[in-house]
Amino acid sequence: MQKRLYYDDPYLTEFDATVTRVETLDGRHLVRLDQTAFYPTSGGQPFDVGTLGEARVLDVIDAEDGGIQHVVDGSLTEGARVTGRIDWSRRFDHMQQHTGQHVLSAAFDRLLNARTESFHLGADSATIDLARDLPAGDIRRAEADANRVVWEDRPVKIAFVDAAEAARLRLRKEPARQGTLRLIDIEDYDLSACGGTHVARTGAVGIVAVTAWERFKGGTRVSFACGGRALRAHGALRDVAAGAVRLLSVLPEELPAAIERLQTEGKDAKRSIKVLQSRLAQHEATALVAASPGGRVVAALEGWDQNGLKAVAVAVAQTPAAVAALISTPSPRVIVIARNDGASVDSAAVLRQVIGRFGGKGGGRPELAQGGGLQGDPQEILRYLRELL
Ligand SMILES: [Zn+2]
Repeated sequence: MQKRLYYDDPYLTEFDATVTRVETLDGRHLVRLDQTAFYPTSGGQPFDVGTLGEARVLDVIDAEDGGIQHVVDGSLTEGARVTGRIDWSRRFDHMQQHTGQHVLSAAFDRLLNARTESFHLGADSATIDLARDLPAGDIRRAEADANRVVWEDRPVKIAFVDAAEAARLRLRKEPARQGTLRLIDIEDYDLSACGGTHVARTGAVGIVAVTAWERFKGGTRVSFACGGRALRAHGALRDVAAGAVRLLSVLPEELPAAIERLQTEGKDAKRSIKVLQSRLAQHEATALVAASPGGRVVAALEGWDQNGLKAVAVAVAQTPAAVAALISTPSPRVIVIARNDGASVDSAAVLRQVIGRFGGKGGGRPELAQGGGLQGDPQEILRYLRELL
């Protein structure tokens, strides 16, 4: 059986070992050693990376037979001695998050009787799923107590016990494994069976910051960041807040009110534009009809969106026997065709022919049809429309 060096010393970053087995599976080189400090993905904590000799360690797998497989990008020889080096920044980040998780889960357990069902540590976020739905005030209380324990800098000890001894101890969670158990003991606060890598004293966690929470499967999913991650998360928030503060010229605490004011102004402006656009559409329609003998209005209008164009076309179609065929410039070119009940033109049929020649899509009824995505020279489209009408 391979010796798991991280069990006793999570701070060990360099070790010597003998290669005991080399396999190639699906093009991946799998290496086993007589002992290793590489942590394999398990218990919610991801694997370590680093190097084995000259090869890079890309993944570390907890094999079903109890061994550890190192997936490497180079070739190693059975029987060779190699030096393994652990990427410390990744390892230490995992240690901060994992010990922070034990403290936070214990806080939820002790203060609120909210059991942790599962823990997930990803590259960007860490979450725990609690068995109960909790209000914001309770979450803040547990967060505060977890940080108290962090700042008291309590020892975090590793112990190995057999099943009989474990049964006598008060573990936070029923252990899932049989036989000898590895316990993580946060002095006078938490005792859990866990194979993960942990800091030696709670102070090294730095801070436990709850970043978000949501209802999840009848309980609560709590996202959190510890130590370096919390600092980075704070930096990201600071930059976003500073950007918003600069744009709105308000103090950070005034941001929500300033955004609300902008939203209200935006809605009012939209409403005014709608009213003005419909009045302008009437004027535009009157001018177009006056300039078009026979009530056939075929024109390219600039600066109107689909709705504006439709308003002008419908206004033109209020004139007895009039037909409007309007396109917008510049691209994306939209088209609206409308006719007065006194005109015999089928707007939808005209639109189909235009689309057949200039592409795009759309549809409608004999009285009103509209489309978009026409390709081609506006003058050519207008010429064709005049032919059709
Ligand atoms: Zn753990």
